[in-house]
Amino acid sequence: MNEREMDAPTLSAVLLTIEDRRSWDAHFELARLTEIEQAAIRLGDELLAARARLGQINMRMRTGDVAAAAEQIWHVHQWAVDHDAHQLLARTHLVWSSIHLHLGDAEQGLEHAVLAVELLDDDATEHMQIWHRTKLADALYFADDMDAARIRYAQAEELAVSHGSPVLLCMLNNYAYVESCTGNQQRAEDVANRLQRLAGEWDIPLEPAFLDTIGSIQAAGGHFAAAEESMRLCLERHAEGKWDDANDMAQYLVTLAQAQRGLGKYDLAQASLDEALRQCQERDLGESLVRMHQEQAELHAARGDFEAAFAAHKTFFEVYHQQQSLQREARARTRQAMFETAEARQDAERFREQARRDPLTGLHNRRYVDERLPSLIRTDPALTVALVDLDHFKQINDQLSHDVGDKVLVKVAQVLAREVAAACPDGFVARMGGEEFLVVFPGTPVPRATTWLDSIRRTIRNQHWSPLTRHLPVTVSIGVAGRGDAPDAGQAPLLSTADSHLYAAKHGGRDRVVSAADLRGYAGHASAA
Ligand code: GH3
Ligand code: MG
Ligand code: MG
Repeated sequence: MNEREMDAPTLSAVLLTIEDRRSWDAHFELARLTEIEQAAIRLGDELLAARARLGQINMRMRTGDVAAAAEQIWHVHQWAVDHDAHQLLARTHLVWSSIHLHLGDAEQGLEHAVLAVELLDDDATEHMQIWHRTKLADALYFADDMDAARIRYAQAEELAVSHGSPVLLCMLNNYAYVESCTGNQQRAEDVANRLQRLAGEWDIPLEPAFLDTIGSIQAAGGHFAAAEESMRLCLERHAEGKWDDANDMAQYLVTLAQAQRGLGKYDLAQASLDEALRQCQERDLGESLVRMHQEQAELHAARGDFEAAFAAHKTFFEVYHQQQSLQREARARTRQAMFETAEARQDAERFREQARRDPLTGLHNRRYVDERLPSLIRTDPALTVALVDLDHFKQINDQLSHDVGDKVLVKVAQVLAREVAAACPDGFVARMGGEEFLVVFPGTPVPRATTWLDSIRRTIRNQHWSPLTRHLPVTVSIGVAGRGDAPDAGQAPLLSTADSHLYAAKHGGRDRVVSAADLRGYAGHASAA
């Protein structure tokens, strides 16, 4: 079935198969993930779309477009935070960690890798449990903490073995590679041996990149015949074309040349290097070129041609520095792009925040209420809201001025904000329009809220108003509604109940608080001060 015709659960399952394995062909997966995102948007499934988007970002990074990945990851991360999407958030941090490591920022890479593990919960897939720990170990290695890295690799290995998860091979590959990079030859060989043994036991063919790791470690340990055999297999699998990038061939040829040199097969080694050089030039492979010239110098030296060895070494050195500065430039460009995106994001956030504020009083506005209230109503059975309306406000405008009216509104808003925050730190006030405000008290039963509101009502009337309004008093009427008062759990019925209680307060003489209990005829807060 085509992605276009899938329903959401099927699409989600397909997406999971991409998320929960390492794929070889990043370009191919990128195209698929784009299709999936479009299908998810058509279905109106935002989570699915965000997951597909993150998948694309990961593939972009894998194809070498780190700048694009760095620019786009913010959005998915923000979406995951806003929607409390744990798994997506954990995956976001994992990709972010890789982006930072690509940029040479070990500290940030580690920070995100830690979060990617911390955010794992019971819902996380087996693959995530293993892979996120592996990536944390990789990040620890980059941050120069090999001891801590080993602990995480061991955790990942144990989990993978107990689940029989094929991601184990990839995990061991990284582990072996990192041990050899830090010069721990014996440990590297131990891990490489486990990798080979388990692949054999589980009957999973080792992919070329893993064989290259094994071959390099064998060559470094002087096991040249074994290394040559590993690399023969590596190139054979590479030729099958289903595992890795064509660009990886040059690397494999250099490792093969190393093994051949060790065995004294100098002509074969030279032929391997010649082919590697051709590939590097044809495909513009800077990193492989560095290794190729280094090995060329070794080969000349092994043959006793020290003059040529010295020349090759000089070339190696030049190419190495060239490569370093190219990488530095690329990283600087990407960092700049990331910085600019972060700035643009802050501007957007400021704008977003402004759009949810009332310019006169600085309080939240109706738009903010529309965004926050529905989820509070859904999740909080003890939610209480109140509509607060100024009494005879028109008189203030008419008898004094519109400007004085504004100042009264600002002062009432200040009192409300201060008093609501003091009574209930989770609560908030918004200006709904004109001289009407909404007070929201999460986790507060109606009787307690009513007591607070009555105290707020008195505080407002007892302000020292006369310098502003002279003879005119400033009072408010308040209609209270609890989550249980409204027939249906929705914003409109709740606010309409509060409004009818406000209407009752106005009719009862103003300057008072009215809740459902007052209307049922109970004595209580309906009386004015
Ligand atoms: P009630 O006690 O029944 O609520 O009487 P009221 O006069 O307060 O109510 P009414 O709805 O008749 O009048 C509200 C007035 O509030 C009318 C409008 O001009 C004024 N108003 C609305 N928004 C603003 C504002 O931003 N600034 C000023 N100064 N006045 C405003
Ligand atoms: Mg009014
Ligand atoms: Mg009004």
